[in-house]
Amino acid sequence: MAKATLSKLIYHFGNGKSDGDGTMKALLGGKGANLGEMSRKGFKVPAGFTITTEVCTYYYDNKKTYPTNLFSKDVPAAIKQLEKATGKKFGDNKNPLLVSVRSGARDSMPGMMDTILNLGLNDVTVEALKKKTNNGRFAYDSYRRFVQMYGDVVMGVQKRNENEHEPFDQVMDSYKESIGKHEDTDLSEDDLKEIIKRFTKLIKDRTGKAFPQDPAKQLEGSIGAVFGSWNNDRAILYRNKYQIPHEWGTAVNVQAMVFGNMGATSGTGVAFTRNPANGTNEFYGEYLANAQGEDVVAGTRTPLKIVDMAHDKVFAKTFKELEVVRKKLEKEFGDVQDFEFTIEEGKLFLLQTRNGKRTAQAYVKIAHDMVKAKLMKPEHAVTSGDPQALDQLLAPIFDTSDEKAAVAKDRLTVGLPAGPGAASGIIALTAKKAEDLVASGQKVVLCRVETSPEDLRGMIAADGILTARGGVSSHAALVARQMGKVCVAGAGDVTIDYEKKTLTCNGKTLREGEFIAINGTTGAVYGRKVETSPSELLQVLVNKTLKPADSKLFQYYDFVMKLADKYRTLGIRTNADQPDQAANAIAFGAEGIGLCRTEHMFFEGDRIDSVREMILFAEDFAKYKLESEEAAATGDAERVAALKGEYAQAIEHFHGALAKLLPVQQQDFEGLFAAMGERPVTIRLLDPPLHEFLPQAGAQIEDLAKKLGVKYERVEALGHNLHEFNPMLGHRGCRLGIVYPEITEMQSRAIARAAIAVAKKTGKKVVPEIMIPLIGFAEELKNQLDIVHRVFAEEQKIAKVKMKYLVGTMIEIPRGALTAGEVAQHAEFFSFGTNDLTQTTLGMSRDDSGKFLPYYQRLGIVKANPFASIDQNGVGNLMEICIERATPVRPGIKLGICGEHGGDPATIAFCHKIGLTYVSCSPFRVPVARLAAAQAAIRATRAAAGAKPVKAKVKAKAKAPVKAKAPAKKAAKPLAKRAAAAR
Ligand code: PEP
Ligand code: MG
Repeated sequence: MAKATLSKLIYHFGNGKSDGDGTMKALLGGKGANLGEMSRKGFKVPAGFTITTEVCTYYYDNKKTYPTNLFSKDVPAAIKQLEKATGKKFGDNKNPLLVSVRSGARDSMPGMMDTILNLGLNDVTVEALKKKTNNGRFAYDSYRRFVQMYGDVVMGVQKRNENEHEPFDQVMDSYKESIGKHEDTDLSEDDLKEIIKRFTKLIKDRTGKAFPQDPAKQLEGSIGAVFGSWNNDRAILYRNKYQIPHEWGTAVNVQAMVFGNMGATSGTGVAFTRNPANGTNEFYGEYLANAQGEDVVAGTRTPLKIVDMAHDKVFAKTFKELEVVRKKLEKEFGDVQDFEFTIEEGKLFLLQTRNGKRTAQAYVKIAHDMVKAKLMKPEHAVTSGDPQALDQLLAPIFDTSDEKAAVAKDRLTVGLPAGPGAASGIIALTAKKAEDLVASGQKVVLCRVETSPEDLRGMIAADGILTARGGVSSHAALVARQMGKVCVAGAGDVTIDYEKKTLTCNGKTLREGEFIAINGTTGAVYGRKVETSPSELLQVLVNKTLKPADSKLFQYYDFVMKLADKYRTLGIRTNADQPDQAANAIAFGAEGIGLCRTEHMFFEGDRIDSVREMILFAEDFAKYKLESEEAAATGDAERVAALKGEYAQAIEHFHGALAKLLPVQQQDFEGLFAAMGERPVTIRLLDPPLHEFLPQAGAQIEDLAKKLGVKYERVEALGHNLHEFNPMLGHRGCRLGIVYPEITEMQSRAIARAAIAVAKKTGKKVVPEIMIPLIGFAEELKNQLDIVHRVFAEEQKIAKVKMKYLVGTMIEIPRGALTAGEVAQHAEFFSFGTNDLTQTTLGMSRDDSGKFLPYYQRLGIVKANPFASIDQNGVGNLMEICIERATPVRPGIKLGICGEHGGDPATIAFCHKIGLTYVSCSPFRVPVARLAAAQAAIRATRAAAGAKPVKAKVKAKAKAPVKAKAPAKKAAKPLAKRAAAAR
C-alpha cells in the first residue's frame, strides 16, 4: 500500500469532539466511527483513539509488520493525548491510565475477534488503583481479569481441545474449590492475589515467557493480537458466511477504561433500543451490577432484565438516563441501536453503539414502525435487511394442537425466547456432533451450557440452539438471531453433562441423539419432536387460510416489499411450470414467468406414456424422413412408397403421440396463461436429453410395451439407442427441435392455440414468449424460428386474430454468448440460462461438481459455489461480453436470467450492474429477489452519486428495456477492455 494513504494512522474521540465521524466506517470500523459520532453528538463516551483499518491491511500486505512509526511515534503520541484528556498517566504509580483494546470491523462481527480490558495494570499500578479507589478487591479483580485476557488472547494460553476446560477457568475453579468458595464475588483481595500468582505461573509454564509488566509492551502486544484476530478461524468462517470481504481488515480502538466492577453502585449492560427478536418497541437488554462488559455477553452469569432496573433502588436514576439515551440514539442513528454501557459509581458511560442485528420478523416490524414514525429513512429500511433472511418468514411454526399437547405432557422448561421460530431435532451436545449429524441428513438442535464463538460451525449446521446459561444478548442469542436460527437461551433448569452425553431438566433425562423441540418465540423446551405447520405468511399468501387484515406480520412484510418495489428497477419473474406455482409466485410479487420448463409438464398424469412413445419412435421417424427425402430427390417413387411401409410403425406412433400431446400441452399452457393474466410468460421448448424420460426398470418397460402394443425387446432396443456418453452435451436443447421439427411445431401450436383461447375467454392480452434453448449458432435459432413463425401465422389465420408474441433464446453455451451479435439478429430476447452457462463455461458438470467443489471452497479456489452464486469474473464476464455484442445489433433487447442464480442476492446485484431487464427465480425466492434488487438499485445509485441519499421513484409499470440499457452502457468500458484482452 502506498505510504501516502497511511499518513494518518490514528483518530481521536472524546470530550464532545472527534477526528472522525459515523460516515467513516470503512477507515475506522463501525465501532470507531460510531464512537466518534457519539462523542460529537454529546453522548458520554470515555475518551480514546482508533487505529485505522488501513494499518490492518498494511499489516497483512507486509508480512505482519506495521507502518514504520506506529509504535515508535504514533501510538505513544496518541497515549500522551489520551493522558491529557483523562488527566491520568500510563504506568503511573499514583493515577494510572488504564485502557481497553477492542477490534472494530466495518461490519460488526460480534464476538469473532479479540478484546482486552484493564490494560496498563501491573504489580505497581494495581496498588495505585487500590489506593485511589480505596478498594483492594476491585483493583486485584481487575488485574486478575487483565492477566487472564492477556494470557489467553495475546500469549495464546487456551484450551487445547474442545473437551478441555479453559485453562484459566480451571486454575480459578480449583482454587475456589480448595477454599470452599463458589462465586467469583466471594473471593477476597488475598484470594485474587493468589490467583494472579497462579495465572502468571500458568503463562510462564505454557509459553516460557513472563507476563509483561511494561504497559507500552502490553499495548503493543494487544494491538497486534487484535489485528491478528482478524484472521482467526471463526472470524474467517463468519466473513465467509456473511460475504464480508477479507481485504477489509479491522480497526483497533484504544479507550480509557471505566469500571462497572467498582462495587455496588457500578454495573454494566448491553441493550437494544427495541426488541431485536420480534421488533416490539420496548427497551430490551440486560445488566449486571458490579461486573465488566464481558460478563454480560459471554453468558457466564445470567443477568437481569434492563426494564427491571427501573425498580432497582441503586440504579433507578441511571435507568431514567438510559431511557433518554435510548430515544436519542434512535433519533441520531436512524435505526435500532445495540449499545453497551457502563455505570462507574453511579456515572453512566456509553462504550459503543451499532445498528442492532435482528431477525427477519423484527426487521419488517421495525422498518414499518420506524419509517412511519419518521425515525428511519425509507432507503435505510430497504438496505438494512438481509434479503436471504426473509426465508425466516416462510419457515414453519409449531402445529398448534401438537404443541398444546406437548405443553401438557412434555414441556421440560421455559427459557428465554432469543430467536423466534420452531425447531424440532436431534440433540447434539457439541458443535462437531451437530455438524456430523446434519451432514448425515438429520435435523439438529445444538444444546450447550453456553455457546462460545468456537461453536459457530455447529450453530450454522443446527436448526435450533438451546443454552442453559446466558441471556438474550449473549453471543448465542446474537449469532442465532442473525442467522435466523431458532434459539432458547438461559434455560436455567437444564443441566448438560458433556461426559455422560445427557441433558437433564426437571427430573427428565434425554441423551444425545434423542429428540428435543424448542420454541424460540415463547422459550418453551419440549422433550420430544413437535409437529410443525406453515408460517403465518404462507397462511396469508399461499394457503389463504388467514386474511391479510388478521396478520400483523403480513402487513409489516407487505410494507417493506412495497417500499422495496419503489426503488427496484430490475423486473422480478419466476420459474414456474404449473398454474399453482404461478399463483404462488404472483402472491409473492412475481411480475411474470421467466422460465416454464415444458418437460416438467410431461410427467403429469399418464401423459408420460405419450411422451415416451414420441421419444422411442422419433429416431426411426427421422431416419424415415431423411431416406424418403433422398429417394424423392432422385425421383424414386417406388422407394418412397416402400419406406412408408417399412417405417409404418414409427410413423404411426410418432405422429400418434404428438397428436395426443398437442391438446394436453395446450391445456397446460392455458392454465398458465389464465393464472398469469397479462403478465409475460416465457415458455421454453423441450430441452433435456431424451433418456431422462425413458422407463428404467424392466417392469416399466414391460408396461409401456404392452400399452404401445409392441414387443418388450423393441422398446428396450429403442431405449438403448438413445444412450449417450455425455447426455448434457449431447442431443438436447434446440438440437432436438432441429432433428425433430415436429416437436417444435407441436409445442408452438399448443402455445399459440392456448394464448388465443385464453385471450378470447378472458378478454386479456396474452403475450407468450417462446424460448429456444441451448443455442450456439445463429443458424440454429433461425431454423427453429421459421417453424414457430409459420405455426403462429397458421393459427392466427385460422382463429382470425392478430396477436403479439416474442421469440427469443437462452444463452447457455459460450459460443452463443460470443456470437451474440449474430444471434441477436434473430432473437427478440435473451435469457441467461446460467445453470448450463456455468457448466459449459467452467467445463464442470452441474450434477457431479458436488464431489469436488466443497474442496475448492475450503481451499479458497472458489469463494462461493459457482452454481449458486454467479462466477462474476468468468461466467459473469461472458454475460457482459454477450450483452456488449448484442445491444448494438438490437438496441433495448430484453435480457433476463433464469438459472438458479436468479434468486441469489449477490448475483442479483451483478445482474443489476450489467443491465439485465429481469431476474427469474423459484416462487419462494421472489421476496428475497425483490429486496435484493431494490438494494442493488440503491447501492448502485449511491455509488454513482457519491453516497448521496437516493430518492424513491415511482416505478414505470412496464419494464421498458431501454431502461436497462443505461447501466449496461456504463459497464461497457471496463468490459470492452477485458473483452479486447480476451480476444
Ligand atoms: C439453465 O441452464 O440455467 C436453465 C435455466 O435451464 P435448465 O436448468 O433447465 O437446464
Ligand atoms: Mg439449461
